[in-house]
Amino acid sequence: MSAAQPRPLTIVGAGLAGALLAILLARDGRRVDVYEKRGDPRLRGYGGGRSINLALAERGRHALEQAGAEAAVMRQAVMMRGRMVHFADGSLQLQRYGRDDSEVIWSVHRGDLNLTLIGLAEAAGARLHFDRRLDAVDFDARSARFVDDRDGSAEQVDFAALVGADGAGSAVRAAMQRVADLGERVEPLDHGYRELEIPPADDGGFRIEPNALHIWPRGDYMCIALPNDERTFTVTLFMPNRGNPGFDTVRTPAQARALFARDFADALPLIPGLEADWAANPAGMLATLYLERWHLDGRAVLIGDAAHAMVPFHGQGMNCAFEDCVELARGLRDEAPLEEVFAGFQAARQPNALAIQHMALENYREMRDRVDDSDYLLQRALELELQQRHPDRFVPRYAMVSFMRIPYAVALERSRLQHALLERATRGLDDLEQVDRGALDAEVRAQLAPLEDF
Ligand SMILES: Cc1cc2nc3c(=O)[nH]c(=O)nc-3n(C[C@H](O)[C@H](O)[C@H](O)COP(=O)(O)OP(=O)(O)OC[C@H]3O[C@@H](n4cnc5c(N)ncnc54)[C@H](O)[C@@H]3O)c2cc1C
Repeated sequence: MSAAQPRPLTIVGAGLAGALLAILLARDGRRVDVYEKRGDPRLRGYGGGRSINLALAERGRHALEQAGAEAAVMRQAVMMRGRMVHFADGSLQLQRYGRDDSEVIWSVHRGDLNLTLIGLAEAAGARLHFDRRLDAVDFDARSARFVDDRDGSAEQVDFAALVGADGAGSAVRAAMQRVADLGERVEPLDHGYRELEIPPADDGGFRIEPNALHIWPRGDYMCIALPNDERTFTVTLFMPNRGNPGFDTVRTPAQARALFARDFADALPLIPGLEADWAANPAGMLATLYLERWHLDGRAVLIGDAAHAMVPFHGQGMNCAFEDCVELARGLRDEAPLEEVFAGFQAARQPNALAIQHMALENYREMRDRVDDSDYLLQRALELELQQRHPDRFVPRYAMVSFMRIPYAVALERSRLQHALLERATRGLDDLEQVDRGALDAEVRAQLAPLEDF
C-alpha cells in the first residue's frame, strides 16, 4: 500500500491512550476507527469512575504536545511543586520535587482530559463509535464483534489490524490469549484504595495548599490528596486489603471516621462527606500486569494498561501509556509490514514498561513509609547537593522519571547506582558535615557518565 494511503487501524478503547493514539494517527492522514464500550461522554457526561485526577509529568506533556493537545489540557491543570507531608503530630513539610518551578508535576482531571482528547481525535478525522463493547474477535477472518449493552444489539466489523487500548482488563488481550500464549502474569498488590473528596472552602477557594500533592504517610498505609481545578481535592486512602487497619477491618463509614480521627486527624474536618463518599466509592484493587508478548503478528497489538498495567505510586501509568502512543505512531509512519512495526514497538517499549512497573512498586514503600524517616531525609539532602554539584551526572530518580524523557530503563539503572552511593556515604551519620565530598565526587564521576540531553 502506498504511503499516501496508509493502512486503516481499528482502536479498541477511547480512554486516555486510545484517544491520544487516534489523534496522532489521524493527523498522519490515517483512517482510524475507535470503538468504546461506554457512551459518548460529551452527551451523557463522563462515566469513567475511578481515579478522578492524575499526575501529568514531562513524558505525558510531551506526548500531548506531539498531538497538538497540550495547550488545551494545561489550561485545566493544577501545578504541584512537591509533596506536602502531613506528619502524625500535625506538622507539615513541603518536600519539593525538583529544583524550581520548571520541575513540577500537574494534576489533571481524568474526565476533562478524556473529553478533550476525544474532541481532538474527532476533529483530526478519527471516527469514534460509542456504546460498542468488544465482545469477540476472529483473528483469521480479521473480524470483530461489538455489542451495544443498552439493547444487546451487535455489529460485526472487519479490520486490518486491532490496537488494544482497552485498559487493564483488556478484551483484545483476552481474545489474543485465546489464539496464542501471551505469557500473561498478574501480580495483585495486597493493598487497595478508596477515594474521598475535600470540597471547596466556604469562600469558594481551596481548603489546603493547592500547589502540592498532599501525603499523610503512616507506615503500612497512607492518604494522598491531589488538587482539582474546581477547587476540590481528590483524597485517596491506600491501605492493606487485610490487616489492622485494612479494608477488611475498616468496612463501614463509622469505622472509616474512627480511622481518620485517629490517624488523619487534620484531614478529617476537610472531608465533610466522608461517610457518604465511603459508602458511594467502593474499594479499588491494584495489580501489576506482565506480558511477554504484546502483539499477534501484524493483526493486533496492545498499548497502555492493556499491555503493562502498573500500581499508581509513581504517577506514571498514563504518562507511560502516552509514550507508547508516540512510539507506535512513529513506527507506523515507516509503513513497514505491520508485524515488523508491532515487533519494533514492543522491543522499544517493553524494557521501559518493566522498569517503571518496578519503580512504581518501590515508590509505594517510599511514599507511605520513608518520607518521614531521618535517614531518608539525610540521603535526600545529599542527593540534592550532589545534583547541584553534578547536574549532568547525578539526577535523582524522581527527576529522571518525572521531568525528563530518558528511557525508564536507564532511569532505573542509574538510580540504583546513585542509591547505593548515597547509602554508603551516609551510613551511620547524623548530618552531612562528615561526608567526604572529594571521595564522593570521584565516585560520581567514575560511576555515572554524563546524561545526554534527552
Ligand atoms: C488510583 C489510580 C491512580 C492513578 N494515578 C495516576 C497518575 O497520577 N498518573 C498517571 O500517569 N497514571 C495514573 N494512573 C494510571 C492510569 O489511570 C492508567 O495508566 C491509564 O488510565 C491507562 O490508560 P489506558 O488508555 O491504557 O486505559 P484506560 O484509561 O483504562 O482506558 C481504557 C478504555 O477502554 C474502554 N474499554 C474497556 N473494555 C472495552 C471493550 N471491551 N470494548 C471497548 N472499549 C473498552 C474503557 O471504557 C476505557 O475507556 C492511576 C491509576 C489508578 C487506578
